[in-house]
Amino acid sequence: MTQRDTFSANWPVIGHNWAIDQFRRALQFERTRHAYLITGSANIGKTTLAWALATALNCQGETPPCGQCRSCKLMAAGSHSDVVVIEAEQVGGTLKIEQVRDLQHGLALRPYEGRFKIAILRRFHEANLAAQNALLKTLEEPSSQVVLILTAEHGDLLLPTIVSRCQVLNLRPLALEETEAALRNYWNVEPEQATLLARLSGGRIGWAIRSTTDTTELDLRHESVNALEQAIAGTRYERFQLAEGLAKDKPTLLTVLDIWQTYWRDVLLATTRSQVALTNIDHESAILQIASAINPEDAQRALEATRRAVTQLGQNANTRLCIEVLLLDYPFVKPFQ
Ligand SMILES: [Zn+2]
Repeated sequence: MTQRDTFSANWPVIGHNWAIDQFRRALQFERTRHAYLITGSANIGKTTLAWALATALNCQGETPPCGQCRSCKLMAAGSHSDVVVIEAEQVGGTLKIEQVRDLQHGLALRPYEGRFKIAILRRFHEANLAAQNALLKTLEEPSSQVVLILTAEHGDLLLPTIVSRCQVLNLRPLALEETEAALRNYWNVEPEQATLLARLSGGRIGWAIRSTTDTTELDLRHESVNALEQAIAGTRYERFQLAEGLAKDKPTLLTVLDIWQTYWRDVLLATTRSQVALTNIDHESAILQIASAINPEDAQRALEATRRAVTQLGQNANTRLCIEVLLLDYPFVKPFQ
């Protein structure tokens, strides 16, 4: 990463300036809290912010996080002995009580070289009830040398007694321009690709950054959009064939339907000549052509049908039937590509 010093005045974080301002003031007046809860969608920057706060808390420099002192360097290398991260074994897994107990044993010791022992508890909404209850003990009897930083997608997913003992910071998606500028300036992404990634990311900067190197999700999105466009221009028979293929892999199908929703939203916006930026900007010409062949009600109906299919699949409807019905609900537009 280059030009790190131009990130939000020393903080190695893109966006979320209001949260950083809050931390900066708290550090300045030595009013930091014992526990923080950073909430927001996946890949929005929660862990990055948590890590930056942990770095700042133990920084020995004048303007934390200075990035230069021994503590900041250890943090940058991910090897500060007073900072520990716990999380479920995988995304969507379970953070267990044993992990919280192990953590508590470690936190009972004095800091080894920093001012604080800091625990970052990632995706704490994945902690089971026993693990959440176990953590309550630490929150109820705070030590002046311990800081807990929890991250979660939503505060509602945690015990209210946990949330009430934390300072809650609810992160919002970054603005389109902010995401785009960051990709261009710090990750050297070409302008056109930066625009596309910013729009597809919906302001989830972590997703956009990951997609600059790992194209798995971009590839699936590319295939999904192409398949949808072929279906819209295709016959009933071709749609049945597509349904057969898609029905074989339900987890992927749910992702495909999410992508299709963004596409139909774009078509709907285009039919109403909305000034709102399209998400699938690289398919703008096809979207405009479809929009010119149908009316807003058709686009709205297709969007709603797609949403309905996601709900039905979640209720264990017959996958093949569900996707067939959906594809036949979509308007037929004569080949447009
Ligand atoms: Zn420092």
